[in-house]
Amino acid sequence: MEFILASANAHKAQELNELLKLGGLDIIPAASKVDVVEDGTSFEENAFKKASGYFQKFKQPCVSDDSGLVIPARKDILGIYSARYADEFEDYKDKNRILLEDIQALKGDEREAYFACSLCFYISAEEVYFFEGRVHGKISHRASGDDGFGYDPIFLPNGRDGKSLAELPDWKMINSHRAKACGAASKFFKNK
Ligand code: IMP
Repeated sequence: MEFILASANAHKAQELNELLKLGGLDIIPAASKVDVVEDGTSFEENAFKKASGYFQKFKQPCVSDDSGLVIPARKDILGIYSARYADEFEDYKDKNRILLEDIQALKGDEREAYFACSLCFYISAEEVYFFEGRVHGKISHRASGDDGFGYDPIFLPNGRDGKSLAELPDWKMINSHRAKACGAASKFFKNK
């Protein structure tokens, strides 16, 4: 089955393309961008809004990802609003700098965080599937690494010797929140 990728984020699209194709799913880019208002109250709801918005336009099965960084000790920032954090800046170097300043009071376990990804496969109004993935770690005190995107340089996954996701591109492809959600989806569609 072929799915249109409902995403305008080039970095996410690249990761999703690779991950879902590896899992045997046929993913094609959308012919044009659809403006979707992401005003849901959860990753799942926003993923649904994107996939259904693209489906309404293209009348073909669509897949979307809604993801973000969650710091449980700071529920007032990031989460479903991760893409809009410090939106006076475009460059994530600036956003990460502001974020590190913003959470400088957090010590030890308070710096625990996770990335979450919700994937929505919208096949028809009667057939919609969701898959989720998370990767747990801590927010570092300084940015490091050049790979990846977004908050990768300040996120230290558990058990990786203090390296950031931006220093672990191969590990990220197999173990990230997105990789886990795509893995679950690939397994499901293989058995379907
Ligand atoms: P969305 O397009 O609303 O899902 O935005 C998700 C935002 O969360 C992105 O713009 C990034 O800021 C952040 N994010 C999601 N996944 C990742 C990741 O794998 N690495 C780093 N940042 C991520």
